[in-house]
Amino acid sequence: MKVLKFGGTSMANAASIRKVAEIVEKDARAKYVVVSAPGKRESADIKVTDLLYECIETRDRDGLCDAALEKVVRRFDEIIRGLSLDLDLTPEFHVIRDKINGGAGRDYASSRGEFLSAIVMAKYLGARFVDAGDVIRFDMDGNFDSETTNRLVAKRLEGGGRVVVPGFYGKMPNGKVKTFSRGGSDITGAIVARGVNAEIYENWTDVDGFLMVDPRIQSSPQIIEMLTYKELRELSYMGANVLHPDSIFPVRKADIPINIRNTFNPTAPGTMIVPTKKYMSGAYTRTDRTITGIAGKTDFAAIYVEKSMMNSELGFARRLLKILERHNILLEHLPSGIDTMTVVIDPSGLCPEELNAVLREIKEELSPNNVEYVDGIALIAVVGHGMNRKKGTASRVFAALGDADVNIRMIDQGSSEMNIIVGVENGDYQKAIRAIYAQFNV
Ligand code: ASP
Repeated sequence: MKVLKFGGTSMANAASIRKVAEIVEKDARAKYVVVSAPGKRESADIKVTDLLYECIETRDRDGLCDAALEKVVRRFDEIIRGLSLDLDLTPEFHVIRDKINGGAGRDYASSRGEFLSAIVMAKYLGARFVDAGDVIRFDMDGNFDSETTNRLVAKRLEGGGRVVVPGFYGKMPNGKVKTFSRGGSDITGAIVARGVNAEIYENWTDVDGFLMVDPRIQSSPQIIEMLTYKELRELSYMGANVLHPDSIFPVRKADIPINIRNTFNPTAPGTMIVPTKKYMSGAYTRTDRTITGIAGKTDFAAIYVEKSMMNSELGFARRLLKILERHNILLEHLPSGIDTMTVVIDPSGLCPEELNAVLREIKEELSPNNVEYVDGIALIAVVGHGMNRKKGTASRVFAALGDADVNIRMIDQGSSEMNIIVGVENGDYQKAIRAIYAQFNV
């Protein structure tokens, strides 16, 4: 049995919801459906979730949310009429209006898009509606409580017939609604898949699958037919964002594969995301490729520390990292040479005074020969299990960058031998990605 999650574009209007219903009804194994709030109908449109955040702003400014909430009412009216549904959401909107006007917060308000969307979908499919508030639990600090949730999902969702669950939110033990971060319905889908022990988690969106590289940088890139959980983690950490990065954790616990599919092109096979161990043991096969995908992010900074005989100085790295820890700085990468160590950090949120203090402490406590701070660095991750069986992958990456006249500022090869990370100047970022893509896709 399967869990199918449909994103905002799939739930945007009556026509797209009809497509969703067709996909679900055709598939006897499609038992659990998780939905997002209605998204954009065209690029200039506003998502229902954003209209709901606007309700809070309107209330805080004018005392009442009514004018803003009216826009949400109209979006759902249009959908219900378009589907010729015998459904009246007036009582639900009364409750929502009263709660927001009575002081409810952003999480409650924004969660109502998924709540109403699931009521509509359940009615249209003739399925059972189960409120996410009854099965998805957060603790009092707002952290997701995975084990309580897993028990509740397994218990409340069993039984015959189709079930529709709203994505994006759950409740804390005191009954307060809490949402995941934006795009969090993907996480709900993964949680439901784990709880009901689904054979597969289908994530239906508006693209044909995970692309090898960002299409805003490289036109018409190849679609990745299959990637492992680990490759997904590397690529999504570096900014590839078809799926919420946290969706991987629940399914990983139960080895459930994810299939990214396109509601608007349902015959396309999409991208399969499979358990790494099973892939490594040969349970899945895919077209043999050296690299699976390329992703990257700009605006990192590097602190280069150089000291002769650094390699024979006990505790050097520890003392360097201690200074960063003292200043609450997260470390992104740590490439090192015999007498050099580079700390790559995300400098956003670091004020000039704090940065100066860090550099000063490094000089005082480590007595290096040289310390340099360079910002405006882009990191590019070249990811794929295929590279650990093939010689010369790194040299192909570097040759491609050399030919494109890109200056490499940093190189880091992960210990898992499935990724090579290169640092280049922000200005060379797009050129570098295109050059690497071309090198492996001739
Ligand atoms: N509706 C929420 C958002 O726009 C959650 C989701 O669609 O996954 O972020």
